[in-house]
Amino acid sequence: MGALDSSIQFISGVGPKRAGLLERELGISTVGQLLQFYPFRYIDRSTVFPIAHVTSSMAYVQVIGRITEVTLYGPKGSVILKENAQGVLQKASADLRMNAAKRLSIMIADATGVMEMVFFKGIKWNYERLRPGRMFLFFGKPQAYNGYLNMVHPEVDDPPQAGNMTAGAGMTGVYNSTEKLKDSGITGKAMTRIMAAALNLGLPEMRETLPDYVIRDNNLPNLAWAVRNIHFPESPEALEKASRRLKFEELFFLQLSLLKQKYVRSRAENGIAMPRVGEAFNACYRGLPFDLTGAQKRVVHEIRADMMSGRQMNRLLQGDVGSGKTMVAVLSCLIASGNGYQSCIMAPTEVLAQQHYKNVCKYLKDTDVKCALLTGSTGTAARREIHAGLQDGSIGIIIGTHALIEDNVIFRNLGLAVIDEQHRFGVDQRAKLWNKTSCGAPPHVLVMTATPIPRTLAMTLYGDLDVSVIDELPPGRKPVQTIQIGQGKKNAMYRFVRDQIALGRQAFIVFPLIFESDKLELESLEQGYEDIVSKFPLPDYKVAIVHGQQTNDEKNFNMDAFAAGRAHILVSTTVIEVGVDVPNASVMVIESAQRFGLSQLHQLRGRVGRGADEAFCILVKDNKISKESQKRLDLMCATENGFEIAEEDMKMRGPGDLEGTQQSGLPISLNIASLAKDGILLSQARQYAESILEKDPSLESPDNAMLLRELRKDKYNIKDYSKIS
Ligand code: ADP
Ligand code: MG
Repeated sequence: MGALDSSIQFISGVGPKRAGLLERELGISTVGQLLQFYPFRYIDRSTVFPIAHVTSSMAYVQVIGRITEVTLYGPKGSVILKENAQGVLQKASADLRMNAAKRLSIMIADATGVMEMVFFKGIKWNYERLRPGRMFLFFGKPQAYNGYLNMVHPEVDDPPQAGNMTAGAGMTGVYNSTEKLKDSGITGKAMTRIMAAALNLGLPEMRETLPDYVIRDNNLPNLAWAVRNIHFPESPEALEKASRRLKFEELFFLQLSLLKQKYVRSRAENGIAMPRVGEAFNACYRGLPFDLTGAQKRVVHEIRADMMSGRQMNRLLQGDVGSGKTMVAVLSCLIASGNGYQSCIMAPTEVLAQQHYKNVCKYLKDTDVKCALLTGSTGTAARREIHAGLQDGSIGIIIGTHALIEDNVIFRNLGLAVIDEQHRFGVDQRAKLWNKTSCGAPPHVLVMTATPIPRTLAMTLYGDLDVSVIDELPPGRKPVQTIQIGQGKKNAMYRFVRDQIALGRQAFIVFPLIFESDKLELESLEQGYEDIVSKFPLPDYKVAIVHGQQTNDEKNFNMDAFAAGRAHILVSTTVIEVGVDVPNASVMVIESAQRFGLSQLHQLRGRVGRGADEAFCILVKDNKISKESQKRLDLMCATENGFEIAEEDMKMRGPGDLEGTQQSGLPISLNIASLAKDGILLSQARQYAESILEKDPSLESPDNAMLLRELRKDKYNIKDYSKIS
């Protein structure tokens, strides 16, 4: 057994007890694992600050000072003993002894000022060591307390002298720790010592994980050097280089693993070949009242190439709200029709499915393709007819909600499944589509999402899907002016909405309703509705309301009233978030806007500016909101670019929290690289992995044996989340 696989208990300073603790607390049991436990940040210990320059806003600093006074405090702040260099200044009565001490306070001074060092633990040991008159180097986080600057539990060292290189030597790593570890003496400093010993043991045996040519091509240092410098950087430059190497490696193997799966799948000839374009496609295309945007053309082209290829398409289509994804979906369905296959479009809500249906019927007017709508509220008779039409193939395109995946829905030959707003469908639900067709091959899959996913995340979450992006809006879309207002400005906002209505426009007013089933929140929506009705009274104004507790009939009635222009204002919860198209609406008011996530706000804003000459989004914020929330609202006012917003969202919240990704989660946990911060390196690593797989898709060449070996590690054995089959 090599040193890297040996137990950490044999590292000097560890032993069986601490080894058990490290295993339980951090999951580290071997020397090799320990060496992959990297510092989470670094402290520059090359600088010693004069006390007068230290402020409580600084991160960790070091100061050197002479001890002027030492005080032992007992219960309730009583003084047990106070001393200075001259001797005892104050002493408690005999029954209050050292053992009763709760806190040790050390006052230090340098030429510029004084500062307090405080200990709640290790009191006896520190009391004996930190005697008045002596000089030490203290290292810790300064904070303001009772008008003094102090540090709690600083690290204490002898001041650096010539030859003493431990204190004040350059960059020091800081490791994540836990209370239990600290209690058992594995403090930051102890961890540093343990790590140094582990490096001595393990480094000589550390085998390179990347082939020579990969290292050369990417200008990386070798693994052993990188590991040493990630723990004990020789310099900031060395740290940078080491961290780049380790991050690259991680991202590279991640991408290599995902892409390899994709290559394997794409080489399997298991798709339905659809070589024809067909008359229906051409007729629809010719009949369009507008030209496709360049981005739409490009994406249609990509999809056609996939569907022709004889391999199954698995493509993610990303495009901002209003970028014209539906159009692209319809043309894709018509390719299937032209080849004698059926398609389905699944939408997450009834409202959306209906809207899709209306639009799709329009696009199909010049074709002989029959289209039907199937949702939860489709009546029994109609439903029976649709089931029959799907089974005998007379229905070419079916649009619907979850009703489409019910067991009694059977297709004659489903060739394409379009899934709108992918994140609302679980993987299992998508898989159900599979059993619904008897063509012997899985249908092509096009997943559409208007929640822009940052590129880096898409590359990981959907690393084995092909991604198309519509990054261009149809001409004529007006920018939406976005402003934020406080509660005090609401009357002005109402006036503004009235002015817009006077111009013939309509307005959305959205309330946050996080759990639609929650009665209280519903009450608050109804309260909001009452308020608005009182500001916009009949007969001059008509206000419609839509929320999740209504029956479908109520919902449709209200939606239709707004869509047809009979209602001036639509008060709603976020049910309108996705897809609803009312070109005449020019104002989107979002109440308690700080309670919405960025992508949600962005989606909501996308509802306006689809037709009106000028469009506005008014973010109404509550009086007290957090800094984070304020940052989100500021960002909304600063940009309309969905991808920029998604990137920022990820930076603010971290990729795991990103809206729409909770269901899928991240396929692997990264040790050092960050999807939010290392986007450029990720792209490089992905491109490089692609170039390798292009030449050697199965990694069979001897040069790549190392890569295969690494990929076999658990860490890179990625569950295929994105696969829809
Ligand atoms: P998405 O589904 O991406 O939010 P839609 O497909 O609903 O967008 O399109 C939004 C609106 O833009 C629709 O009214 C649609 O008819 C229109 N549209 C789509 N493509 C174009 C285009 N190339 N030129 C002009 N209008 C377009
Ligand atoms: Mg849409």
